[in-house]
Amino acid sequence: MAELEGLEFGKSDFVLLDEVTMEQFMENLKLRFEKGRIYTYIGEVVVSVNPYRQMDIYGKDNIEAYRGRELYENPPHLYAVSDAAYKAMKRRAKDTCIVISGESGAGKTEASKYIMQYIAAITNPSQRAEVESVKNVLLKSNCVLEAFGNAKTNRNDNSSRFGKYMDINFNFNGDPTGGHINNYLLEKSQWCSDEMLQSFHLQNDPAVYVYTKEGAETATSNNDRSSHKAVLSALEVIGFSKEEINSVYQILATILLLGNMQFESDGESVNIVGQEVVNHISELTATEPDSVNKSLLYRTVATGGGEVIEKGHTEQDALRCFPYHIFTVALYERLFGWIVSRINSIIEVKDYDPVLHGKNTVIGVLDIYGFEIFDNNSFEQFCINYCNEKLQQLFIELILRQEQDEYQREGITWQHIEYFNNQIIVDLVEQAHKGIISILDEACLTVGKVTDTVCLDSMDTKLAQHPHYTSRKLSPTDKSMDFQKHFRIRHYAGDVTYSVEGFLDKNKDLLFQDFKRLMYNSANPVLKEMWPDGHLSITEVTKRPLTAATLFKNSIVALVDKLACKEPYYVRCIKPNEMKSPVLFDDARCQHQVAYLGLLENVRVRRAGFAYRQLYARFLQRYKMTCEYTWPNHLMASDREAVEAIVIQHGFQDDVAYGQTKLFVRTPRSLFTLEQERNNL
Ligand code: ATP
Ligand code: MG
Repeated sequence: MAELEGLEFGKSDFVLLDEVTMEQFMENLKLRFEKGRIYTYIGEVVVSVNPYRQMDIYGKDNIEAYRGRELYENPPHLYAVSDAAYKAMKRRAKDTCIVISGESGAGKTEASKYIMQYIAAITNPSQRAEVESVKNVLLKSNCVLEAFGNAKTNRNDNSSRFGKYMDINFNFNGDPTGGHINNYLLEKSQWCSDEMLQSFHLQNDPAVYVYTKEGAETATSNNDRSSHKAVLSALEVIGFSKEEINSVYQILATILLLGNMQFESDGESVNIVGQEVVNHISELTATEPDSVNKSLLYRTVATGGGEVIEKGHTEQDALRCFPYHIFTVALYERLFGWIVSRINSIIEVKDYDPVLHGKNTVIGVLDIYGFEIFDNNSFEQFCINYCNEKLQQLFIELILRQEQDEYQREGITWQHIEYFNNQIIVDLVEQAHKGIISILDEACLTVGKVTDTVCLDSMDTKLAQHPHYTSRKLSPTDKSMDFQKHFRIRHYAGDVTYSVEGFLDKNKDLLFQDFKRLMYNSANPVLKEMWPDGHLSITEVTKRPLTAATLFKNSIVALVDKLACKEPYYVRCIKPNEMKSPVLFDDARCQHQVAYLGLLENVRVRRAGFAYRQLYARFLQRYKMTCEYTWPNHLMASDREAVEAIVIQHGFQDDVAYGQTKLFVRTPRSLFTLEQERNNL
């Protein structure tokens, strides 16, 4: 429980609420936001409200104030949990992780940067050069990933279009020795279609490129130019070679050219308008112009009889540019993936000998998309919300497990409390054979014309009995859904209606092997490296490639496994309004987020057990002045007995339990009395 700052700022820990109701929770959250107190605890969980203005709470002095201190000794702050995670790692050799969640624009990425900065600031006091360089690369990698992976959306000017999990490795001194980044890509459709590429300044007039046209007016702002320089220098600092940096820019330019390409048809065959663009692409990608031409106009297919033939693209395909769009998105995706793996190979811990150097411990920081409910929810939201179900499950399990472990360790009897277990929803999505992903995959692999609607029918049949699944067919009176396209999942965070339109296409790997082979045959080793699967001929290509949903599921399962074996810390971010305003607290929007982040449940779980626990010695240190038997020093046989004296004097002996090393207090009210007494002295 956090130290009280004074009641005018509200309660610094939600477990101190008189009653756990939504009204009280919201009242406190709003009051604190209005008073500029953007962080509030629920036990060790930080609830953060995006201030949408520069706060004067991240400076050197603040860092010093939190360094090495306990959570409740200072006002709630990201620095306090960062320090708690760092201490757990350093003192107890525990691997820890900090999980940051919240919706788009809630402040996750900013939070992750403050956490990294804090860790960088408090480590390596002896300024050893090699450690400084590791820290520098870790910090710079953020800048590069943001440049390539963020985009302006209507929800956030600097929205991360990928999820990121970063492990920072530490040696026994507690200094960073390296790290590893995992990226969770998702929103392909956003890429290349916004301002992201403009900032790279590939041409003076970005308006000529279709892919970036929408935001062309703002492209040449000073802001863009300086951030472009920052990215270049970050790439250099991290250790990308000149050739590599060149290749990155060549690929970006290729993407822009492809987006700008036009086709014409003479009724029989389809052609590219203007040979220059083909020559230009072949130059940029170090491939033969003929090969470029061919892979843009034809695709190789294997017939049923094992024969390989070349098939010209249909006029319709070429003119609506469908295959090329998939190709350009794949180019960008592979480029991003390659940049991440290149950074990883540079920051990977090398030559670490545990015998010589002690145990290598890790702090992981997860900054990943939050739960999404839009007016129109598609495949992307389905994946994002599935990911959030998995993380919510982990949250419940870890928070409860941690509690139970502690009670057990301390020899405290504890009554298990019931809460909603969302495993049933996770199963609905991921279960083998019966889950939605399996049904989708099956539909994708079925030869012949399986449409999104056919797939929906199949889901309706197989999931009719599932309490968290419904559709128009299953609840015919619900006019908000359409027979042909809607299904609804009752998520832990609320009902979401998905439209199946496009589900199958988004789930399939529709990229033609011809494009992959073209890239694989590039004379540029960097480009070639990104397309290892391009060496396969059409007859060797597996008939059952993993689908997008299954790949995503596998990566999230692996992520959850990684997090589950670490001691977790949580930052729950809330977006106060849709206007990016520093003064507006939109009650309805905030309440919705509090509900789906499960924050009330979190407070209840925390209070059902013991809201507060503290080492006897520390408790004494803080409250000994409130009791005549302990002030200035007690004469009892143990600290525990002295603590008992304080508890009895204040009359809350029924509200506590005595553990091996700690006092446990059930309701915050008791503590509150003590705090008040202390303040009144
Ligand atoms: P997305 O899911 O779209 O990536 P996000 O949760 O990562 O969103 P951020 O990019 O971290 O959101 O925050 C959005 C904007 O809000 C920032 O660009 C910044 O202007 C503002 N902001 C967030 N946190 C803070 C903070 N602690 N102090 C000041 N401004 C902040
Ligand atoms: Mg972000």
